[in-house]
Amino acid sequence: MIYLKTEEEIELLRQSNLLVGRTLAEIAKSVKPGVTTLQLDRIADEFIRDHGAVPTFKGFPNPWGIPFPASICASVNDEVVHGIPNSRPLQEGDIVSVDCGTLLNGFCGDSAYTFCVGEVDAEIRRLLKVTKEALYKGIENAVHGKRIGDIGAAVQEHCEKASYGVVREFVGHGIGKKMHEDPQVPNYGRRGYGELLKQGMCIAIEPMVTLGDYHVRMDADRWTVRTKDGRCAAHFEHTVAVRKGKAEVLSSFEFIEEVLGDQAI
Ligand code: MG
Ligand code: MG
Repeated sequence: MIYLKTEEEIELLRQSNLLVGRTLAEIAKSVKPGVTTLQLDRIADEFIRDHGAVPTFKGFPNPWGIPFPASICASVNDEVVHGIPNSRPLQEGDIVSVDCGTLLNGFCGDSAYTFCVGEVDAEIRRLLKVTKEALYKGIENAVHGKRIGDIGAAVQEHCEKASYGVVREFVGHGIGKKMHEDPQVPNYGRRGYGELLKQGMCIAIEPMVTLGDYHVRMDADRWTVRTKDGRCAAHFEHTVAVRKGKAEVLSSFEFIEEVLGDQAI
């Protein structure tokens, strides 16, 4: 069941998503060698609650009923998504994908950004750049009258042109009062296929892209997803509203990129 949102509901989604953008910017200030992802998690948890919202990830159950123990997902290097914050200090040259979700005034925010820890190899920086570009290629297709497959095809083409892998097992999603609503939004697909996009649909588009092969495996914790070949992966996510003519991005990287300055990807 796909819920089309009213303008009032879209405004509430925007407020929640802007809080996610500001939370990720708080994290951006602290990502550096020696910092642990547990410390990043504490920063996010406090910031979200100080702004009258609830971190939606905390306690969210996986298909085995295991609740996610933290307020952000922090996935380092070969970890693709759903990394559990831990006490291992980040090292110069690492990348860390931080995914964050909020519930504010009854509506969900969901956005993710992959950060560099200090100086990162040019090859890996390029993976981040192409993944972010792919996200915006997807967003260009989140337009009334197009189809879900148009989004996936645009993301996939951009990544595969650069010889990167596009993860199949995890996808974007509708978003509203619940973090995960219909429809699913794959990062691969065929133009002209899939659910018809309509004004008022709100979706999270979130390419998960690998430097090598796209196959992934899950750790024994039943959360952490990592590449099978051990190579790096990147993850960028925006929540957008489908509109006539042009999608509207409800989340924001502006606050993050203000912090990162000329270090931004
Ligand atoms: Mg997310
Ligand atoms: Mg999401």
